[in-house]
Amino acid sequence: MKLYDVTAPIFEGMPVYKNKEEKQPKISTETNGHVTESRIAMDLHTGTHVDSPLHMLTDGDTMETINIDDLVGNVKLFDLTHVEDRITKKDIASFQIEKDDFVLFKTKNSLQDSFDFNFIFVAEDAATYLAEIGIKGVGVDGLGIERSQSEHPTHRTLFSHNVIIIEGLRLKEVPTGEYFMVAAPIRVQGTDAAPARILLFDGIVAE
Ligand SMILES: [Zn+2]
Repeated sequence: MKLYDVTAPIFEGMPVYKNKEEKQPKISTETNGHVTESRIAMDLHTGTHVDSPLHMLTDGDTMETINIDDLVGNVKLFDLTHVEDRITKKDIASFQIEKDDFVLFKTKNSLQDSFDFNFIFVAEDAATYLAEIGIKGVGVDGLGIERSQSEHPTHRTLFSHNVIIIEGLRLKEVPTGEYFMVAAPIRVQGTDAAPARILLFDGIVAE
């Protein structure tokens, strides 16, 4: 069994969305005698994380409505590292994607270590296609699942069809294939996102 940790490390100076200073995590540490305690202040969309519908839908559901059972199980990872600019329906139409699948898209985002303002994203027509199939979730290796689309149709289409969105995966080392995923967002309540530790196991298949 092989384990892939596809989680971005969190540290001050890490890649953050649009390199915005206010999105940098702030870690402060105090030591009193032999006791050390640290505090972190960070955007919940930092690094590898799960979005909840509230992120893009007014009155949308919050993190605790996402069932952990849906974040643990088989996933299909597809290689799209040849894609430029955006993933369209045409790029994924030949893949074996079925109802209730959880899919992960590996793009050249995973090959870059700094934030790319032209990161690869999921275009609206691909989101509509995935929503119509009725997938359970989609994970991407950009810090956003879309950019340059006014009104955020990719997020909104997926959320309105109860498709879970994972962003910020690091998939460089992971070949195309099927994996058993454990995606464990921290258990914050009432929020639009939560950072997650995400592991892929090769060689375990859920019933
Ligand atoms: Zn997000």
